[in-house]
Amino acid sequence: MSFVNGNEIFTAARKGHYAVGAFNTNNLEWTRAILKAAQEKNTPVLIQVSMGAAKYMGDYKLVKSLVENEMRVMNITVPVVMHLDHGNYEAAKECIEAGYTSVMFDGHDLPFEENLEKTKEIVALAHAKNISVEAEVGSIGGEEDGIIGEGELADVEEAKKIAATGVDYLACGIGNIHGKYPANWKGLHFDRLKELADVIEPPLVLHGGSGIPQEQVVKAIKMGISKVNINTECQLAFAAATRKYIEAGKDQQGKGYDPRKLLADGAQAITDTVEEIIDWLGTPAVK
Ligand SMILES: [Zn+2]
Repeated sequence: MSFVNGNEIFTAARKGHYAVGAFNTNNLEWTRAILKAAQEKNTPVLIQVSMGAAKYMGDYKLVKSLVENEMRVMNITVPVVMHLDHGNYEAAKECIEAGYTSVMFDGHDLPFEENLEKTKEIVALAHAKNISVEAEVGSIGGEEDGIIGEGELADVEEAKKIAATGVDYLACGIGNIHGKYPANWKGLHFDRLKELADVIEPPLVLHGGSGIPQEQVVKAIKMGISKVNINTECQLAFAAATRKYIEAGKDQQGKGYDPRKLLADGAQAITDTVEEIIDWLGTPAVK
């Protein structure tokens, strides 16, 4: 199956009060592990790459062809969305050119009017090629220089203006954070999510989905979150399984140092994590 854009999948998710996982790829193992999980579950999936991960792997074209060719050799039959995560203006344009089926233009750190204008431009370019667009209002918190931000709350009026540009999904800050959550984190702001969900029609996106207590994410999904971004959780699962393999001395037994063996447990841990997440996001199987 070739790539699909995100429109049908996420609109159906919002209507059906479930979510579809958006999983970040970092390399070949990640790509295979995510695809394997989605195929085993027979559910749609969104594979996304950050600007940093794309640079690490080579470029946007390489990532797209990696995912595309893995889908071919793995006989993937479930719908897959190829998405750019947190792109700046240039990256979004590059991925539209490269044939991604979905892009995020993240202009949250620009003055609001500029974010609005650039979002409009990206929507026009993307929609001309049947590509979905995600935009962001209100920054997603996280650790910066040792200071942990709680996560800014999206302004409802600003969110309405960005939604009116025709974006296909919208990331709104509701107290969520990228990376590990601090012990003193106050939780998701459901009041703000309700205010947003009441007036925003496109599916809403929850970034920093790793580490939010599951019952909070499930509640947010019922309220209008349809795309949940997962990155850290897979990284932690991969690292823990790889550590276990090495600490057990397996890399020193036989040809256990062969990267295909050395990384196998970690890759399986990613698949297991993705499958568990697909289950509790409530993503239904493809008919
Ligand atoms: Zn994010």
